Amino acid sequence: MLLSHGERKILSELVKNRNRMLGCQREAHALRVLVAQALNFSGIMMMIVEFRYYVLHRVQGPKHVGKINKTAEEWKAMLSAEQYRVTRESGTEAPFSGEYDQFQDEGRYLCVCCGHALFDSQSKFIAGCGWPSFHSELSEANIVQRPDSSQGGGRIELLCRNCDAHLGHIFPDGPPPTGMRYCINSASLVFEPDGDQA
Ligand SMILES: [Zn+2]
Repeated sequence: MLLSHGERKILSELVKNRNRMLGCQREAHALRVLVAQALNFSGIMMMIVEFRYYVLHRVQGPKHVGKINKTAEEWKAMLSAEQYRVTRESGTEAPFSGEYDQFQDEGRYLCVCCGHALFDSQSKFIAGCGWPSFHSELSEANIVQRPDSSQGGGRIELLCRNCDAHLGHIFPDGPPPTGMRYCINSASLVFEPDGDQA
């Protein structure tokens, strides 16, 4: 079963864009069916496409579904004004004001925008700086670090890998084992108690 150059191109686009499409499984499937129909795929070809999609999804894992892109209006509809200001406009909540600053329950902290798991309560410590502080991130968090030129520069900004939410900054004055302090806005987090994990 040979595909023409054009068909191969569309197929590779389809596979390349799978992450974006994974944002909505049903729409992703509908889109693939649509493309398959446009290409006049036979049933067996459609099965190959579906199988390849399935394998790629499995290999990549459902946690890494690619960037979540929403409009400002969509973010505003699902976040509080403070959560929006901090996560989408790189804001900083007032020190000692956030709900997780002194919080010590056991569980995980997820990105408030997309639910991506970021920190475990075991890495949390009271730094006295006024913001929730962690010495380590979860290995699957894979938090993005980016030089921050605001306020005179020199700081490293932390962003959610999945949705680009601004989380806070990282400083090299934390406790062992890493010596780092992830200084995070409460407004960027949502707490998930132990036992609530899916
Ligand atoms: Zn996120």
